[in-house]
Parts: sequence; structure tokens; C-alpha cells
Amino acid sequence: SCGICVEKCPFDAIEIINLPQELGDEPVHRYGENSFALYGLPAPQEGRVTGILGPNGIGKTTAVHILADEMTPNLGRFDEEPAWKAVIDEYRGTELQDYLEDLREGDMTVARKPQYVDQIPDQFDGTASELLERTDERGALDDLIERTGIGPVVDNHIDDLSGGELQRVALVATLARDADFYFLDEITPYLDIGQRMTAAQLIQELAEDEDRSMLVVEHDLAILDLLADALHVAYGEPGAYGIITSPKSTKNGINEYLSGYLDNENMRFRQQEIEFEEHAPRSVSTGDVVAEYPDLTKSYGDGEFSLDVEAGQIRESEVLGVVGPNGIGKSTFAKLLAGRLEPDAGTVDADLDIAYKPQYIEIDQPMRVDAFLSSITDDFGSSYWNTEIAQPLQLDAVMEQQLTDLSGGERQRVAIAACLSEDADLYLLDEPSAHLDVEQRVMATSAIRRYAENHDATAMVIDHDIYMIDLLSDRLLVFDGEPAKQGHASPPVEMREGMNQFLSNLDVTFRRDERTSRPRINKPGSQLDRQQKRDGEYYYAP
Ligand code: ADP
Ligand code: ADP
Repeated sequence: SCGICVEKCPFDAIEIINLPQELGDEPVHRYGENSFALYGLPAPQEGRVTGILGPNGIGKTTAVHILADEMTPNLGRFDEEPAWKAVIDEYRGTELQDYLEDLREGDMTVARKPQYVDQIPDQFDGTASELLERTDERGALDDLIERTGIGPVVDNHIDDLSGGELQRVALVATLARDADFYFLDEITPYLDIGQRMTAAQLIQELAEDEDRSMLVVEHDLAILDLLADALHVAYGEPGAYGIITSPKSTKNGINEYLSGYLDNENMRFRQQEIEFEEHAPRSVSTGDVVAEYPDLTKSYGDGEFSLDVEAGQIRESEVLGVVGPNGIGKSTFAKLLAGRLEPDAGTVDADLDIAYKPQYIEIDQPMRVDAFLSSITDDFGSSYWNTEIAQPLQLDAVMEQQLTDLSGGERQRVAIAACLSEDADLYLLDEPSAHLDVEQRVMATSAIRRYAENHDATAMVIDHDIYMIDLLSDRLLVFDGEPAKQGHASPPVEMREGMNQFLSNLDVTFRRDERTSRPRINKPGSQLDRQQKRDGEYYYAP
């Protein structure tokens, strides 16, 4: 259960959930007599970036349909169709009044970036520049292309772009438009940290310099923290009802979300707090060595890209976080370890069984989820498998669905389950956070950790979500170099040293929030930022 009702699971009693008093019993919109109901709306503001933080299925898209005037909210009434006027009356005196009045006048234009960029090739046939040219309404296209670094691929066909390239093309296509209201549904999947920070900056500039309203749904909390001027928390019971709070400061909104308790609303929506360890990079694990690899090199083509890896060891029962920019050779290294690629120099112990979840998931067989997973492991359905894998990855709800019908987040969870269900020495997961909401990231993190510990196996996790890496990793393997040209991997090191290597390459420092110990990006050039750089403490500042 979601933890909202401390004593009783709401599944059979959705109508009598103890909704916060001030909401009354009138939703903004209800799809049908017994269907999903949305309470509250986010309030976009001119010149500001407004964030929404909450799980999938909680009504964020519904809210945006309303704010984009694609749907008139029914206030939960089915007898008479309430006019817009009734809705505006409902919001008189709130942050939303101005926005809704503009919307009703009909002079509000909207640009949006879809959540699942992988679907763009199904909807558009042509090159990236053909797609982008249509969106160049502000004369900003060339600048956006340059700053996101997609110049080298704009003449490629949309079908041939990677997920990270598609994400940036979609972002550019949205921001190039001339609209009053921009809605961006997840900006970070498949982007590395540098690209995430650029995306955040472009969104902020458009809000500030051009006085536009930006609304962003984002599950990477470090980026949301950096990006949003104000934050609405969304909570409830996915699929049943969703509540969007009044705006909070970004810092408080994230802290309350992590703590599971909303201060103003006096509402506990999760029993467990999501905790970060203060000053405590996990002590070096002392497990036996699972794999030892020598210095390795690998290049593609005529040396267009070359990778050199320094010899290292991977230990039993540890989670090794893998960080570095896109295009630097992380997947290539994974394939070398997995024996799917031959190194040019050096040899890899071929006895190692490796289970691999790629970054771009291709599970497209016409098959049900349960059939697919039971074809991977005999443990499927055992109480052990249910507790260790199905529950934390919330698979119950999707077991009977076809693989081809899954949403991005569902597909991700099934792919993580498939990887962990294999019998292997090394579990290699490439960007497991993509399309998962914060709760799901935390649960997937603990599933991966527990699994490695209980199986004397090693998990190597490539990810760009700094919170996930922080919660997950015992040690770090850091890649650097020049993307698409040459990559270099240092031997695995303990967390503090690894974060310092990684973040100094990026020139970014983090501090810890006093209340929750969560990492927060320092404003570039701020006193803390300069101090930490002088001290060489990029992450675990004393
Ligand atoms: P989110 O964007 O937070 O993932 P959505 O707003 O897309 O959530 O959906 C919230 C809930 O509303 C989901 O349970 C979805 O099944 C339901 N829903 C969405 N559209 C409709 C519709 N047209 N009719 C009935 N239910 C819908
Ligand atoms: P990462 O996982 O860090 O994003 P990869 O290992 O996937 O990086 O790729 C590193 C570089 O090698 C990229 O420039 C990529 O385009 C290139 N590359 C990857 N696979 C091949 C291949 N089979 N042939 C030629 N170039 C490749």
C-alpha cells in the first residue's frame, strides 16, 4: 500500500480516504463516477519555473491537460456541465486566478515536451533538423542546438538518434517554440549530469529572460532542486486519486517529500523517511574479489573512439557505482567485461557470468510480463522471488500485461527484474533510474543492494542521478576523457575519492542539506562553491 492510511489499505475504500480537510470533497476533475479524481492544480507563474514532484499516475498529465485548455475540468459534477466560470470562482484569490483567466480569454499558447521521447520516431519521419525547423518560432533554434551539443546529429534521421540525443532534440523543439506556457514532462532520462545542468539552465533562462511560465515534472531531485523556483508536491493513490499541494519553496518541498510528511497540510503520506547518510561515504567493503581485470584498451573503426581502462578489482557483495559523461566508453567497458566485445589489448576473465540491463531497453516480444519473467528464472513466483524482486519493483500490477503495452517506467522495472532474476556473478545495470519516480528509484535501489548482498554477487550500476548513486554505491568507478573521442577509466575507489574525481571533472560542488543530509548542488561561484573547490571537497564537505 502507499502508506497514506496508516491503519487501513485504501484499495477497497477509496471513497472514504481521510482527505485533508481544506480540500473539501470537490475535486477539480473526476474522470467518471468511480474513476480517478484530481484535487488541486499547479500554479504556473510568469517568469518562474514551477516544479511538480510526485509519483507517476497521480494526475500530473491530467492537470496539464486542464492548464493547456485541452480539457475543461468538471469539478467532479456529472449532472450539469460546470462552466469555466465556476472553475475560476473556485480558484478566486489563489495563485491560479490570473492564469485561469488568461486561459479562458483564449490567448494562452502552450508548448510541451512529452515524457517518453523514445516514441518520437513513431510519430515523425524525417531528420532531426526537419523536425526542429518547424519549431523555430523565436529565432532561438541555432543557439539551442549549439548549447545542447546536438549540432553533429541534426542531419541524422530521427530513427537513428540515441535516447540521449532524442531527449535533447525534444527539449530544443519545445524551447524553440513561442508559447506562454511550457510544460516539460521529465527532462533528464538518458542525459548525463552536464547535459542535465544545461537543460536546467536553458529552462531557467527562458523563464527569466522572456517572462514565460515553465512547469516541469522531474524525478532527479538534484536537478529539480537546482531548476525550480517553487514546487508542488503531488501525492495520493496512483490510479485512484491525486492531490496537488499549494506551492512550497523548492527546498522545503523536497525535504517534506523525502520525510513523507507535509508540514502545511499536516499530512503523512509515507511512513518511511528517505534517508541520506551524513558525512558517511560507506566504508570500503572487504568482500572477496569477484573479478580482476588488467589494463585494457579498445577502439572502434579507425580509432574514432578509443578507451583505456586501468586495471582494477570488483568485490563480492558490493555495489559499484559507475559515473561519467555519455559517450565516454561505459557501455563499451561493460561489454568487455561481459565478453561481448574483445579488447585490443589485455584479456578479461571469461568465466564471469554477467547479467546485463542495457540503457535502452528492448523487450518487445509479444508476450505477457509473467510469461517473460518465468522464462528467465525457475524462482519466478516463489515467496523469495516475490519479496526480493516483485514487491520492491511493484510488478504485481503489470504481471498480466503485454510487454509491448508497458509504459517507460513499467518497462524499466520489468527489465531490472529480468536482470536480477538471472543467475550471475555480476549484475550490470545501465541507467536503472530512467523513467522511475522517486519512490520507485528508492525501492529499486534497495532491491539491487539487497540482491547483491544476499547473493554474494556484485552489482555495477551506471547512473546519472546523483541521489541514486549516493544511496546505492559502496565504491565508484569514474570515467573521464572526451566524449565520442577518447575515454579513460580509473580503478574503482571509495566514495569520497570517487565523487571528488568525478565532480572536479564537471566543476560542480555539492553540499548537504542541514535537515535531511541530502546532497544539494552549490550555486556556481557562490562562497561555498569556491571554498569547497579550494579545499578539494566536491561532495562530502566537512
Ligand atoms: P501522471 O501524469 O501523474 O502519471 P495522469 O494524469 O496521466 O497521471 O493519470 C492519472 C490517472 O488518471 C491514471 O490512473 C489514469 O489511468 C487516469 N486517467 C487518465 N486519463 C483518463 C481518461 N481519459 N479517462 C479515465 N481515466 C483517466
Ligand atoms: P557510454 O556508455 O559512456 O555512453 P559507449 O561505450 O556507448 O559510451 O560509446 C563510446 C563511444 O564509442 C561513442 O562515441 C559511441 O558512439 C562509440 N561506439 C560505441 N559502439 C560502437 C561501435 N560498435 N562502433 C563504432 N563506434 C561505437
